[in-house]
Amino acid sequence: MAGQLFIISAASGTGKSTLINELRKRVKDLGYSISHTSRSPRGTENDGVDYYFVDQSAFIKMTEEGAFVEWAKVYGSFYGTSFSSLDKQTSSGLDVLLDIDTQGARNIKKHFESSVLIYMLPPSLEVLEKRLKDRGTDEEQVIKTRMQKALEDIKNCVWYDYVIINDDLEKAVGEVQAVIVSERLRTARRLLHVKTIFGNSLAL
Ligand code: 5GP
Repeated sequence: MAGQLFIISAASGTGKSTLINELRKRVKDLGYSISHTSRSPRGTENDGVDYYFVDQSAFIKMTEEGAFVEWAKVYGSFYGTSFSSLDKQTSSGLDVLLDIDTQGARNIKKHFESSVLIYMLPPSLEVLEKRLKDRGTDEEQVIKTRMQKALEDIKNCVWYDYVIINDDLEKAVGEVQAVIVSERLRTARRLLHVKTIFGNSLAL
């Protein structure tokens, strides 16, 4: 059986990257989908680890060649999930985590119906505003625009399968782990194990 896709989305400033880093340390047998992006690397980001960094024309060429399951323009840069990077992992049965925005989540769900969508919320609007302020400018209009964008994003949580509130990192990571464990225990994913254990004793 092909691996399960777990998609995590959140508005900017929710703390998604920290949660995903923790999750990847703790959950066994969980691959990570490395997206292509036309934005430049930030901080300690490495090509082929955090993203495949490509220039805009290379990205557009890939879209024309049909290389992406989904792609989107986010904050002025292109981001896309390639078929090859997903196939490499899921074809061997590995579950894969995707850190993508809500447009991407919708498109992945269209292609892979069994994908599990997890939306992460900030604990409150006040906390979100503070985190967005801490990221850079204090200019009122900039913060206001960022907050509006965040609220637009948060509206999408209604069509996700699970909603996690990031009021405490430990708790939030534990809850996402619980989702992953539960999904892995679904009957459809366990039938092979049942057959292995009971062989022909059960007429399944
Ligand atoms: P950042 O530039 O901060 O790494 O990511 C900006 C946004 O792009 C985040 O919301 C992230 O989830 C989203 N993103 C990253 N990779 C992809 C992708 O392959 N497809 C889509 N649709 N969004 C992505």
